[in-house]
Amino acid sequence: MASKVKVPVREQDPKVRATNFEEVCYGYNEEEAIEEAKRCLNCKNPRCVQGCPVSINIPDFISEVKEGNFEAAAKVIAKSSSLPAVCGRVCPQESQCEGNCVLGIKGEPVSIGKLERFVADWSRKHNIDLSGDIKKNGIKVAIIGSGPSGLACAGDLAKLGYEVTVFEAFHKAGGVLTYGIPEFRLPKSEVVDYEVNSIKNLGVKIETNVVVGRTVTIQEMFEEEGFKAVFIGSGAGLPSFMGIPGENANGVLSANEFLTRVNLMKAYRDDYDTPIRVGKKVAVIGGGNVAMDAARTALRLGAESHIVYRRSEEELPARVEEVHHAKEEGIQFDLLTNPKEIHVDENGDVCGMTCVKMELGEADASGRRRPVEIAGSEFNLDVDMVIMSLGTKPNPLIASTTEGLDINNRRCIVADEDGLTSLEGVYAGGDTVTGAATVISAMGAGRTAAAAMDKYLREKYL
Ligand code: FAD
Ligand code: SF4
Repeated sequence: MASKVKVPVREQDPKVRATNFEEVCYGYNEEEAIEEAKRCLNCKNPRCVQGCPVSINIPDFISEVKEGNFEAAAKVIAKSSSLPAVCGRVCPQESQCEGNCVLGIKGEPVSIGKLERFVADWSRKHNIDLSGDIKKNGIKVAIIGSGPSGLACAGDLAKLGYEVTVFEAFHKAGGVLTYGIPEFRLPKSEVVDYEVNSIKNLGVKIETNVVVGRTVTIQEMFEEEGFKAVFIGSGAGLPSFMGIPGENANGVLSANEFLTRVNLMKAYRDDYDTPIRVGKKVAVIGGGNVAMDAARTALRLGAESHIVYRRSEEELPARVEEVHHAKEEGIQFDLLTNPKEIHVDENGDVCGMTCVKMELGEADASGRRRPVEIAGSEFNLDVDMVIMSLGTKPNPLIASTTEGLDINNRRCIVADEDGLTSLEGVYAGGDTVTGAATVISAMGAGRTAAAAMDKYLREKYL
């Protein structure tokens, strides 16, 4: 009978890893992966696949792992995902494939994410070429943004023969995978760069330092550069702030800026000059994955690091694994706590923060219980740096420079279920359409749009 619990995965000691940027999780080795794969029941109606936004044939790849056929397993995954080593590390499997696994009813689900990660890492270490033969059709397609949605869309269209160019505003490709998620969760040169390169190996060109809407417009792409369709995967990189007194003080910054300095611009490394200010005691406001990343990064840079969140632990939107890792490393959780005012000293620097205690009231429209202030419960949190991690919105640049491109009241680009926008030949997907979401949902949207773009281009040009 299958064991009720997962084969445990080896991790770096919490005390040691709290002082370095090396990867927390070591992943499975071959023996561990085979042992875990043996737990899978190879269900006829696999519920796990229904929970996967890109419909990876999970039982098939796990069956191959069980037999030690790791290359065959990689080929099964490659049919549905172009970023498996990334997804195996950062997908919220507990609410997707693993959340649906039948073994989860009476015990722990199969560790699908760790098996995907193992297969992807094995195939990278063994230089397995998963690109296949491609027949070019000469039709040019532009992709805006090199995050998971843009890369997935680019990869699928390149496999179908299109001449794909990705335009990226930053100097490095990868979107949030490169500038947002820290090295200790997602190694950059080893994992992200490798998966970006495998998309380049399909013939995709990536042009960095191109800000669409400034360097070139979508109209110019069609009229002057010969592109026949465009996919917008520009993400949701514009941070929100609270609008409380003191928010303009030195030492208050968005999680996006803090993480971009550390991840993309390598501020944590002695051989880089990127300036970064880290307080002695840092409060990160918010409870999502981004907040956990910012708090754990501040900790590694030497700060006492707090998560300040207005609801309770149950409502924390971050992945369970990230909260667990953050606690193990010594992040302090100030729950049911909301900031009211940031104190500023005579030099304009943060020197404390008034917070108020909260309690949970009735459920709101989102179904979560609404936090309500407890009168008279104000107190001072002694901090010298505040990082705001309250969610992000799409940057309005592309919409404001593209006539006829509809957006909604959340500034997100309006697209139908195939990703088609209000403009012919212009598709969109990922965070720029949904608002901040997940890597795998962005990839799923990129793949859906690629299929629709292929249909459109075939009917019109082939
Ligand atoms: P992005 O990844 O944001 O990529 C958009 C790209 O477009 C960027 O590179 C940007 O520079 C570029 N761009 C923007 N405007 C222009 C322009 N005008 N011209 C050219 N290029 C442009 N999700 C998970 O599933 N698991 C996690 O653990 C997780 N952790 C996260 C941690 C952090 C810190 C953050 C910020 C997000 C996290 N997410 C996580 C969310 C996930 O990363 C995003 O949902 C996903 O990356 C969205 O993909 P995307 O392709 O839509 O956009
Ligand atoms: Fe295997 Fe679980 Fe999927 Fe069934 S639901 S095929 S046991 S991973």
